[in-house]
Amino acid sequence: MEHKNNSEDTGVLYICPTPIGNLEDITLRVLRVLKKVDLVACEDTRRTGQLLNYYQIQKRMISYHEHNEVTRTDELISFLESGLDIALVSDAGTPGIADPGFVVVRAALKYGIRVTALPGPCAAISALVMSGLPTDRFLFYGFLPRKATKRVAEIERLRGNDGTLVFYEAPHRIIPCLADLLRVLGPRPAALIRELTKMHEQMWTGTLEELLDRATDCPPKGEIVLLVQGAKEEETMSNHDVVKLVRELMELGLDKKTAITVTAKQTNLPKKDVYDQVVELPPY
Ligand code: SAM
Repeated sequence: MEHKNNSEDTGVLYICPTPIGNLEDITLRVLRVLKKVDLVACEDTRRTGQLLNYYQIQKRMISYHEHNEVTRTDELISFLESGLDIALVSDAGTPGIADPGFVVVRAALKYGIRVTALPGPCAAISALVMSGLPTDRFLFYGFLPRKATKRVAEIERLRGNDGTLVFYEAPHRIIPCLADLLRVLGPRPAALIRELTKMHEQMWTGTLEELLDRATDCPPKGEIVLLVQGAKEEETMSNHDVVKLVRELMELGLDKKTAITVTAKQTNLPKKDVYDQVVELPPY
């Protein structure tokens, strides 16, 4: 299906990013679109009402949040099909990024409705580009699970990813989250960025170990983005590569136990992980 960008279109869904802390961070185009649409779909009508008020925009609002997004989507689709233009906003930043948006966008595309995204604030992107960590590849994860066992399992799953890992985190969970990241990923370079675009914007850089020490001494408050450098080449080794390395070391005369120890060191993998992969190999 082709989706054309024609400024004459009606019945368009505009995804509109809004400030993440500084009211000046809204584009002229977002303001123009907010003025011209028929309806603003927002997470919290009170909060968006304040934003619209600040810019002296009076507009009909309709709530669209995580608890009603499925039911509200049908309603929004019928408005769009009848030719009304809708601006989709969230409480802050880019709708659809750790915020509602995905369900209505998917439905709109399914019904052949034009969807367009206006550029604007997103905490993950600002944090990434100021962190000093590699920006060529990154994985936006959003919020890690609250339960420790699930969180550790998710971090394990991310261990081999070679892109910078970007997490959103609440201040009261930042210490257990840093501790689990350190335990699974080791002392990788990382950055903790809080209160972006606000008066108390602050960035800490260092290894996960250093960030954990600092956060323990002085727990960070406010809104936080946490970034961790991706895996090094050795850490992204496939199971096949690990088995091959152990085999090669054994061919050089090392016994299996020593070959496992050396492979674990070289690949930064826990010895048990290497052992699990070569359990079938003979001891010599
Ligand atoms: N849609 C938003 C975006 O585009 O960034 C994210 C919304 S999500 C519900 C809220 C989380 O985003 C916060 O808990 C925090 O992790 C991150 N965040 C939002 N604003 C931030 C800011 N000004 N500074 C640091 N992190 C922020």
